Amino acid sequence: MALIKCPECGKEISSEAKRCPHCGKRLKTPWYKSWIFWTVTGVIIFIAIMISIVIIQMNEGAELARQSEFYQEMDEISEDAKRASSRSESAIEELDEMQDQLDYLLKD
Ligand SMILES: [Zn+2]
Repeated sequence: MALIKCPECGKEISSEAKRCPHCGKRLKTPWYKSWIFWTVTGVIIFIAIMISIVIIQMNEGAELARQSEFYQEMDEISEDAKRASSRSESAIEELDEMQDQLDYLLKD
């Protein structure tokens, strides 16, 4: 508890006093001592935390959706590769057959 000077009469009074005991001047409570300030600050901090939690969860959801899309694309690409390789295998077989036919023709 400190002593401050009353802004009205200049006499020393307690800093805790809400009213000067000498002249009756109503003293302002500093902003950091007001319960309204702390209540509002607490509510703002609470809302900010809730908003950041929601944003983080939304980002994680979007990230998961992107990842599953990526894996789907990878699956499609590997399917395409499988189809292409089976096509080239059958093309090689056809070429072998053609080679055989050519050999047969050349023998004659
Ligand atoms: Zn006073």
